[in-house]
Amino acid sequence: MVRQSGPSKQGGPSKQGGPSKQGRPSKHTRPARPLGSGHASAATKRDGRWLVRSVPGASAVKAYRCPGCDQVVAVGVPHVVVWPAEPSWHSASGLDERRHWHTACWQRRP
Ligand SMILES: [Zn+2]
Repeated sequence: MVRQSGPSKQGGPSKQGGPSKQGRPSKHTRPARPLGSGHASAATKRDGRWLVRSVPGASAVKAYRCPGCDQVVAVGVPHVVVWPAEPSWHSASGLDERRHWHTACWQRRP
């Protein structure tokens, strides 16, 4: 007796998928940049409107002269940068007129 089972056997080739593991974590998840620019807030003083941006000590890498007390804003000291919200006629952008102030000096400015 010869039983011919024929080509009825099923169960083809086992699945050979590619590399199945995916979704590995990205190398570095970057935190938000600490030196965010364009994070200014408006302040109204006696002589007009100003835009103010605070500078953390880590970003204060140059010394500036504070217009409020005429003293130097030392390197590494957190302070504020201010510039007019409406630039003067002679400057293209108020950013050209920005000044570095001690935070306290700016705050006690009328
Ligand atoms: Zn000052």
